[in-house]
Amino acid sequence: MGCSPGVNIDLHIHSTASDGTLTPAEIIARARQLGLAAIAITDHDTVAGVTQAIAARLPSDLHVITGVEISTGAPGRFPCRGSLHLLGYGFNPDDIPLRQALKRLQNARQDRNPRIIAKLNRLDIPISMAQLEAEAGDAQIGRPHIANWLVKHGVVPSFDEAFERYLGVGQPAYADKYRIDCAAAIALIRNAGGIPVLAHPALIAPRGSWSLESLIHELKTCGLMGIEAYYPEHTPEQTQTYLQWAKRYGLVVTGGTDYHGTIKADIEMGRGRGDFQTPFRCYTQLAALIEKASSILDAGRAHPGRSV
Ligand code: AMP
Ligand code: ZN
Ligand code: FE
Ligand code: FE
Repeated sequence: MGCSPGVNIDLHIHSTASDGTLTPAEIIARARQLGLAAIAITDHDTVAGVTQAIAARLPSDLHVITGVEISTGAPGRFPCRGSLHLLGYGFNPDDIPLRQALKRLQNARQDRNPRIIAKLNRLDIPISMAQLEAEAGDAQIGRPHIANWLVKHGVVPSFDEAFERYLGVGQPAYADKYRIDCAAAIALIRNAGGIPVLAHPALIAPRGSWSLESLIHELKTCGLMGIEAYYPEHTPEQTQTYLQWAKRYGLVVTGGTDYHGTIKADIEMGRGRGDFQTPFRCYTQLAALIEKASSILDAGRAHPGRSV
């Protein structure tokens, strides 16, 4: 396939391994159908979807980069509401320290769900883990599955309202969970041969008066290598600011839709709400960095699945 500039890519996609509704194989099929040139599956705190995609033999006409989206805690001087999402790209998915850290985060997720359910039950909402598990199948259950249950059972009219009234930070059914420190997550990704990238900066909600740029500067000193400037929720002004920061701090620019299938039904893979695009150069620049990182880390050793 001619992967010429102008061809669309999507470096932020969730599969059924976390809270997306398409399996990794279905994601690859859809990406090809939509004519995307490169994708990354970036599930919350797991590489299970990435490994499944690799095992199913990757097509030759689509570049697939290993990916993950880790829920991290911001450095102490930068208190936030909720977590700081860190994307990782091009790492070795079999890296043991990375897998061990992700396992701890998956356990924290499993521990949180019953606490959310208990809070909802105290609010007289008759949801149970058994019902959620029956509906979610093999997926790693998260708040989006609970939000869907609340919509389906008429408790709230919409997915967003489920977060606004119950599940969001500060709402009556919110439950916090263990988060890995952001600097530790950056180091884990780099030690696994990958590129750490700050996800959707506009969704970061500072508590207090610190500036987002000062956080970017701090994360750069911790080893951050990229920033997700292209994202459907970013305004054109925000994207421009992030592109400037990328230049200022020497960060690679990435982008993606945060595709979740029917969980976020208005967002299509690659094109978001229709007018969204991530430039193809984001893929080539990221792929070049991945090549460089892997050759520095372990010259010559093959990394499974790093199809770039
Ligand atoms: P979890 O990983 O279980 O904490 O759920 C995180 C996911 O929930 C995010 O990736 C979003 O898809 C969704 N989400 C989180 N906060 C909100 C919100 N305020 N409104 C709508 N969706 C949200
Ligand atoms: Zn999600
Ligand atoms: Fe995110
Ligand atoms: Fe995401």
